[in-house]
Amino acid sequence: MVMRLLLEPLPASWPTPAPPQPTGLRGLLTRLQEMADAVRRPGNLDDLEGHLRRAATQAIVREAYFRTVGEQQDQQRRPAAFAEAWKSHLAALLAQDTVKLSGRSPITATGRDTDLAWKLYDAASRIRAEAITHATATPSKRQLSRPPTLWYAFAIAAGDDYPTLGEVHYAICEPCGIGLLRKIDFSSDWRFCGLGTRALRELEARHPALTWYTTSQYESAQSFYERYRQDSSSPWTANQCPCPHFGGRDQTREARPPPDGGALARA
Ligand SMILES: [Zn+2]
Repeated sequence: MVMRLLLEPLPASWPTPAPPQPTGLRGLLTRLQEMADAVRRPGNLDDLEGHLRRAATQAIVREAYFRTVGEQQDQQRRPAAFAEAWKSHLAALLAQDTVKLSGRSPITATGRDTDLAWKLYDAASRIRAEAITHATATPSKRQLSRPPTLWYAFAIAAGDDYPTLGEVHYAICEPCGIGLLRKIDFSSDWRFCGLGTRALRELEARHPALTWYTTSQYESAQSFYERYRQDSSSPWTANQCPCPHFGGRDQTREARPPPDGGALARA
């Protein structure tokens, strides 16, 4: 929904929320759906100049968002700090006489709408915050399994609009009391939001009696796990083969290779 708001055509006028103002993600999404519907009504594109100005404004807010996401690997900003950084990028872009974005003609001061830019930022950053607050884990879905090991995946999702903010893939062996965290994967938009921690807590809650381990293909996320394990109430072991039924690492990969080669822990 953040991306929809930043990508799809905007209506000529920003919707005024009817009192009482809808609260929560659902209310906001309803308002945005009304906006999206309004823009599809015939006649609304008659005002070509206004349409172009809105599209240019949206492109500026989107650019500010992408710049902020692009800095996440280095900055590792939590949601509130992310919103502030996004705001700073937007303010810096709007302060320019002419904004030059790749793939667009230069955007002059008259070719954009500063008031709309801030409304768009407010709505989009609020949607992001709401999605993070309301994100929950979907039920574990059984995958191709090799008894006695059972293989599962679940997602961290925020309602129908965000069915997948990130995914967790794991396997368990009940006879040995062992769980294997195979992969935890969040797109760069949703990293450093506490969602990886939420996902691992959920994993442990669903299979409380297990000792967990993860394979060394997750080396690049080592610091995340190290931090996580300090607060975890479940045991985690560094042993790379605590259960014979998972086979070696090659075998676990063969059973279901990670789609992106195990680039993980964007958590
Ligand atoms: Zn086993």
